[in-house]
Amino acid sequence: MADDRDWKIQLKYRYLDLASLPPDFEVSGGERAFAKTMAGAQVPPFAVTGYYLSLAENRVDDPIRRQFMPSPEEARTTPWELDDPLGENRFSPCPRLVHQYRDRALLLTTGACAVYCRHCFRRNYTRREEGFISDRELVPVESYLREHGEISQLLLSGGDVLTGSDDRIGNLLSRLRAASPRIVFRVCTRIPAVLPARITAGLLSVIAKEGPAWFVVHYNHPRELSPESLSALARIVDAGIPVLSQTVLLRGVNDSAETLAELFQGLVAARVKPYYLFQGDLAKGTAHLRTPIDEGLMIYSKLRTMLSPLALPSYAVDLPGGGGKISLTDGALVGAADGCRTYRSPLDGLVYRYPVEN
Ligand code: SF4
Repeated sequence: MADDRDWKIQLKYRYLDLASLPPDFEVSGGERAFAKTMAGAQVPPFAVTGYYLSLAENRVDDPIRRQFMPSPEEARTTPWELDDPLGENRFSPCPRLVHQYRDRALLLTTGACAVYCRHCFRRNYTRREEGFISDRELVPVESYLREHGEISQLLLSGGDVLTGSDDRIGNLLSRLRAASPRIVFRVCTRIPAVLPARITAGLLSVIAKEGPAWFVVHYNHPRELSPESLSALARIVDAGIPVLSQTVLLRGVNDSAETLAELFQGLVAARVKPYYLFQGDLAKGTAHLRTPIDEGLMIYSKLRTMLSPLALPSYAVDLPGGGGKISLTDGALVGAADGCRTYRSPLDGLVYRYPVEN
């Protein structure tokens, strides 16, 4: 079992600028030029762990590399793209908390991630690199939870909550538990895929102690299911914590039924239930990573012929601007207009648009 020092060293010494990458890792002139403009641009910083870098092959179209290497294409934004693509800001009763669905809320625990995914829909938040939620910031969150007993699940997201220390996570969970004794935590994390050494016995005992908790992990490619990562998933499941996974449908990463089937079957073999396959959100500068929705539907139809319901996630989209999550295959489609598909939100009954082309 990994000890607490391993992951802290790996996190501290992850690659934070392109110039520090190993000399045999090829970086194009365009990538170098774009990286110099990133500090002033509305894009997340660059960060990759040595572990995740080791999964990448040294070619520009490698599916692992595409997920962490900043691309000059991020400078291009399209008219449909938004700073807050899920419209979370309008459902925020106090800083760091989002309450859009009646029975569940989302806590932005930190802006830090071990690896900054270039497709991140919350990139406008993660790029600010907010620190771990402080004791003072927790006070209004606790009050809100006490007053809203209808919230039965709390998603711990950000950023990645598992970049925090065991002490910080333990303190956070115990305060939230005291405020809302029956709440179920959902630990939303990319850590098992990008820094598996972080899944230590100490962390799991902190989470199990303050449970019930579920892990919701994020995997996009079968190569992310390395022996180290599978071992981390096994540690979570063996600790008695159920695990679901989410995948984002990404152009040039996993936009084929065969690749996704291999990933989902690998997750089931690791005792992880594939939960959602997400259509890419309309975050600014991510068009080059989005698979068009019609292509996504074709891929999903094929997946249905290949996988059992256990291995098949729901294909879903978060309606842009705050319409909430809908399944793309359950009849939410209302029509088409101006190059968009229109969908009815089950939350507010309004019609929202998603563009057919990027
Ligand atoms: S780990 Fe999650 S929050 Fe962090 S950059 Fe990736 S998708 Fe965004």
